[in-house]
Amino acid sequence: MSLIENFKKLGRGMLDLVFPVSCLVCGRDGTFLCAESQGQLARLEKQKCLVCQKPSPFGKTHPDCVSKNTVDGAIAALTYKNRDVHNVIEVFKYKFVSDLAKPLAQLIIQAIQRQNLQEYFHDFVIIPVPLHPRRLNWRGFNQSKLLASELALQLHLTVNYQLVNRIKFTKPQVKFNAEERKKNLENAFNLNSEIKNQKFLLVDDLVTSGATANELAKLLKKSKAAEVWMISAAHG
Ligand SMILES: [Zn+2]
Ligand SMILES: [Zn+2]
Repeated sequence: MSLIENFKKLGRGMLDLVFPVSCLVCGRDGTFLCAESQGQLARLEKQKCLVCQKPSPFGKTHPDCVSKNTVDGAIAALTYKNRDVHNVIEVFKYKFVSDLAKPLAQLIIQAIQRQNLQEYFHDFVIIPVPLHPRRLNWRGFNQSKLLASELALQLHLTVNYQLVNRIKFTKPQVKFNAEERKKNLENAFNLNSEIKNQKFLLVDDLVTSGATANELAKLLKKSKAAEVWMISAAHG
């Protein structure tokens, strides 16, 4: 049995004993991310267009870049290029530290507020980027789902966990260039129900090239979604 499977069997309570809780940034005891470190984590200075990767006001996809195959905008809280941010996201993603969902959701909300978009998103439905069942089984939880439920709670928005399925087991995107990423994701998702004129906020912990966000936006817009934005804890 692998180490990870052993840890999963131990369950959450035992995990705290195996990994004593301390701040991932400053080492302070009692929390995975203390308030001070949360306040100091490196913010993404300029929101980026997920088509050309250049800065764009309010995170809105540039008029020349936006299409029925792309998101309409994207907001990220932190820059993944920073070592501490990198560490926090990796631990959240791979080490089952669900306690990080709340502070990361707070950071995303601050980023939304900085762009004055909270009111704009009032009628959007939150969709966590789904994991393939095989990967979910291996990992034990979908970190984007945890973020989505925290965000829905704090922003008073509806979240739909069932709308999008991941039907293709894709290789990790980090191994590919931009063109290959697009190809890797082709037909990776499908929809469970009809949508009409709804607006969606896709949620994930990390956005890199934007290929996943744009693939999902393409699918949702093909089914008559009115607008699709991507929000994430980090970009890099
Ligand atoms: Zn700290
Ligand atoms: Zn652009």
